[in-house]
Amino acid sequence: MTRAGQNVAASAIRTCIGCRQTDSRDALLRFVLAGDPPQVVPDVRRRARGRGASTHACYRCLERAVAGGGFQRAFKRKMQLSAPDLARWARDQYRRRAEGLLQACARSGQLALGTDAVREAISRERLPLLIVAEDAAGRRGELMDAASRLGGRCLVFGDKRYLGALFGRQELGVMGVLDGGIAGEVREAAEHERELAEEA
Ligand SMILES: [Zn+2]
Repeated sequence: MTRAGQNVAASAIRTCIGCRQTDSRDALLRFVLAGDPPQVVPDVRRRARGRGASTHACYRCLERAVAGGGFQRAFKRKMQLSAPDLARWARDQYRRRAEGLLQACARSGQLALGTDAVREAISRERLPLLIVAEDAAGRRGELMDAASRLGGRCLVFGDKRYLGALFGRQELGVMGVLDGGIAGEVREAAEHERELAEEA
């Protein structure tokens, strides 16, 4: 491996300030200080400037970081933090991130909307991610089987009304992400959102 390659690999590893284990950056949720007075805010896209601190993108590690003083140590200041509030805020960011990715995907023709379009994607053997609404009935099982036979993943995300509203429709039970890279990012955002639920 080249020296530059090693640097890239090293920079993609972070330590969780909750459990103190290291992990790949993608498994972790970044926080930064922002505002005046400065407060800890989630930075799910990892774009904000300045010093960051990371926890695993799960409620347990976030709670440990709050209770164990991990944020105080990382940002070198005293602060009052609420794990439920930070988790809710981060979940909201992940949800908006997934929605933005899906809408961008639709604009670039990389999203199959509805059963017929998903069937067509399956027939062309191109379906890295199948998304089904929680309340989607009917052909849901059949489509999920077909998607996994193609090596794709399935994600249960929102209900029919919610998915429909993202695309100006009354209801939408299934959709398929056709771009592999975006499929991975959508799945990551949705999984992190779920893992940050207090009951998870
Ligand atoms: Zn952790």
